[in-house]
Amino acid sequence: MRQAEQLRRILAQIDGRGYKAYKQIEGAYDFSRFTLHIDHVQSDPFAAPSKARVRVPQAVAGLPANLFDNAIRRLALEDFLARTVRHAIRNQAKGHRGTGKSGLITIAAGEQEILERTAIVLTPEWVEARLFVGLPAAGRRILGTQADAMLSRELPQIVEAGLIWANLPQQEAKRFVACVEDQEYIRQQLDRLGLVAFVADGAILPRESGTNDRPLPAKQAVPFQSPESLRVIIDLPSPFPGPSGPVQSLYGMGIPKGVTLIFGGGYHGKSTLLRALERGVYPHIPGDGREVVVTCRDAVKIRAEDGRRVEQVDISPFIDKLPHGRRTSAFCSDDASGSTSQAANIVEALEVGAKVFLLDEDTSATNFMVRDARMQELVHKEDEPITPFLDRVRDLYEQHDVSTVLVMGGCGDYFDVADTVIAMRNYLPHEMTTAAKQVTSSHPTNRRVETASPFAAVTPRVPLPESFDPSRGRRAVKIDAKAKDLVLFGTEPIELRYVEQLVDLSQTRAVGYAIHLAAQRFIDGHATLREVVNALEEFFAQYGLDALDPFHRDERHPGAFARPRRYEIAAAINRLRTLSMKQKPEKASA
Ligand code: ADP
Ligand code: MG
Repeated sequence: MRQAEQLRRILAQIDGRGYKAYKQIEGAYDFSRFTLHIDHVQSDPFAAPSKARVRVPQAVAGLPANLFDNAIRRLALEDFLARTVRHAIRNQAKGHRGTGKSGLITIAAGEQEILERTAIVLTPEWVEARLFVGLPAAGRRILGTQADAMLSRELPQIVEAGLIWANLPQQEAKRFVACVEDQEYIRQQLDRLGLVAFVADGAILPRESGTNDRPLPAKQAVPFQSPESLRVIIDLPSPFPGPSGPVQSLYGMGIPKGVTLIFGGGYHGKSTLLRALERGVYPHIPGDGREVVVTCRDAVKIRAEDGRRVEQVDISPFIDKLPHGRRTSAFCSDDASGSTSQAANIVEALEVGAKVFLLDEDTSATNFMVRDARMQELVHKEDEPITPFLDRVRDLYEQHDVSTVLVMGGCGDYFDVADTVIAMRNYLPHEMTTAAKQVTSSHPTNRRVETASPFAAVTPRVPLPESFDPSRGRRAVKIDAKAKDLVLFGTEPIELRYVEQLVDLSQTRAVGYAIHLAAQRFIDGHATLREVVNALEEFFAQYGLDALDPFHRDERHPGAFARPRRYEIAAAINRLRTLSMKQKPEKASA
């Protein structure tokens, strides 16, 4: 290993030279308090930034072992440290100094959700932060003095402020870890309690705006308050960091398994509640307001998504006998309609193991959701391909053990099929199951149930290896997360805007790489999609997310991945426009 002094000497030597000379600084340097690894130097100031790691021995960092001595605590503390490093960068780094990305230092830290991520690695021996560094230049000429200031002065300050326990906000760190641990504890309890979700009293569900995921300021937000009949108390293993001090148990609304209908007037907070449940599959940071909203980890948002591609999906439980007798047991479309896309989204989620569906009238296709008595009278079933969700939602629960939470303000037909009915009024929930049942008997809908045959099973599909080509130009593998909702896989854009439970750009990036990894290792023309996502999960559990980037071995440091769920990985595969699937002939149970 070279000495830190040597880095300074090289930077002085290459000052003013062409950008390529920066290659000389690749390597490891002993900074006494930590080691700096410069793993990969960018080719020019506009290219993707250089990759560097700082590794601090625990003898120096002093992070308390009890804050990362199990998998959940470690995930939490790693996520926390990515935030403290980001904060330190903002305070210590000068920022932009030259052309292109010159002077910029970043770390892939999270926002409101807490995720397993590769930005920080914690072990009993050391802690490592993975950084992206824009090595400074004027035009393409190296600014050696500026680089020296960044690497020899700012970086050590970032390490001190962001990774050394003595300098960290220690109470905040402990609260953060306890908060995640409690959320995961609640998640583990849901099944035993017969619940699909829990929303604690005091939760702040509304967000600042459609584009800002931070909580609506306290004076504008109505805190959540559970209705007595749905109230549950959950005792916690560690005191929960509540807004007015630690509490040992949480009161809140339990949403039972089965079919739950959320109704109420427009603008009364229905969609806001559902969105909180969607995000509740992940833990949230203290102060988010949703750190006490916990949903079953296998809950999947289902929506209409017209225009998406659909490949060999058996949507016949919902839609069959299209005009001219076209069957839909292996439905394909390059441009699915609202209803066919929504049906495909359901069947695909079932295929990979979803346990809860979350639906909102605002993002559903009306003809997919309902067909009332008058319409039944006028359009005969033989002329109507759609079996509405209304007539399948009980099947899903009774045959497949899949619960549904549904927001529906505009149609009372769902009262007939709901186990639990919740009214939202002035942003607060009221249980109305009994009242709803009275209405169903005093005002029968006179509609006929339209299920000709039960929804027995999902036909497994096998992705075919030739579907996946990650090459672009001269590069054999080129995968870019362009935005949270867009991956470029080779030359193929994968559009993920309507995959709403993808919450972080680093997750999107991991999805893109996970598809490639799956294509290399698990997709063999025999394994079903479900087996493929199972294999990926086992792979992550065994080798960690770092292993997602094997083909960059010479560049090391895959520092910008966050763990996606199986549902989002499958969703991305399903949206790849070059995908070919074949159905597996025998019907296996979902
Ligand atoms: P709905 O789906 O019932 O029509 P929304 O959930 O879209 O209603 O909410 C309507 C508006 O009310 C949104 O702007 C939302 O931010 C706000 N809102 C929702 N819940 C609350 C709350 N608990 N306190 C304050 N404002 C809220
Ligand atoms: Mg709404």
